[in-house]
Amino acid sequence: MQQVTLGKTGITVNKNGFGALPIQRIPVEDAVYLLHKAYEHGITFFDTARSYSDSEEKLGKAFGDNSLRSRIYIATKTPAQNAADFWKDLETSLKLLKTDYVDLLQFHNPAFCPKPGDGSGLYEAMLEAKAQGKVRFIGITNHRIKVAMEAVESGLYDTMQFPFSYLAADQERELVEACRRADMGFIAMKALSGGLITNSAAAYAYLAQFDNVLPIWGVQKEAELDEFLSYIDNPPVLNDKLTEVIDKDRKMLAGNFCRGCGYCQPCPAGIEIQNSARMSLLLRRSPAAPYLTPEWQEKMKRIENCIHCNHCVNHCPYGLDTPKLLKENYEDYKTFIK
Ligand code: SF4
Ligand code: SF4
Repeated sequence: MQQVTLGKTGITVNKNGFGALPIQRIPVEDAVYLLHKAYEHGITFFDTARSYSDSEEKLGKAFGDNSLRSRIYIATKTPAQNAADFWKDLETSLKLLKTDYVDLLQFHNPAFCPKPGDGSGLYEAMLEAKAQGKVRFIGITNHRIKVAMEAVESGLYDTMQFPFSYLAADQERELVEACRRADMGFIAMKALSGGLITNSAAAYAYLAQFDNVLPIWGVQKEAELDEFLSYIDNPPVLNDKLTEVIDKDRKMLAGNFCRGCGYCQPCPAGIEIQNSARMSLLLRRSPAAPYLTPEWQEKMKRIENCIHCNHCVNHCPYGLDTPKLLKENYEDYKTFIK
């Protein structure tokens, strides 16, 4: 069984973490069932966030307040922008998770790297929470390479969580290496690139090459969990067939594509950017029918109402020209609607 140690935290776990964002969308009992099944098969790292609606509560139902709590690691995140909200978030997280500590508390995709003395009070609050025993280790998540690199160089963080998959560019691979040099744990989110990577074996085999990377797989259905659990005993290897899949995807998905992260929201024109701006890929890489319904046709038509306010452009961590991308996807979409 492949394991990974998260840098200087010393946290050593099975090289498969459980991404608890998708369990928001399923009933409590189903979520608890999946979480327990993951644990029973060796997964002990669970990543959630204050912003994932009832995900923390479901984790609390599965692991809080019982003998399992001390056998697993819980990572959560706060989107707080100031110390008062930080404390409010932390107390809520602890209450919902039914625990008196979290193993890892991460600043959730801040636009800047929180540091002592920056005026936000965030890092000082984090240190105080650690001194009180409510937080064991300090992490940061991000989608901006500049902020991520600054966090690594600051020496203030135990872990980095960043999107990482076989579609990653050189700069993301450099970030992984920078984390290794700094003895920081690297947690890989979006290892399936928000649904654009459809071959999980290829995604798994690629990440297996990086011994300091812990992928967290977003799981909503039992079949998805079973797929990853089967890889624990029989890890896919990067053979010619999987390398071919990766090469093909890299060619098709190179450069300016929308990762579906949603950081450009809200859109004043009500456009569901995170799906609309990658519709051409969704139509070709997954069953098209669900995206061709009258409901989706209405959603895509909203692109005509773009007021070019540039909110999306200014908030896209990948520097995409989102209105242009939306327009291209809409033109392509119309060719599917006859
Ligand atoms: S530029 Fe258009 S798509 Fe982007 S946020 Fe503004 S209205 Fe929405
Ligand atoms: S346009 Fe950019 S910010 Fe918006 S969903 Fe796509 S990748 Fe994310």
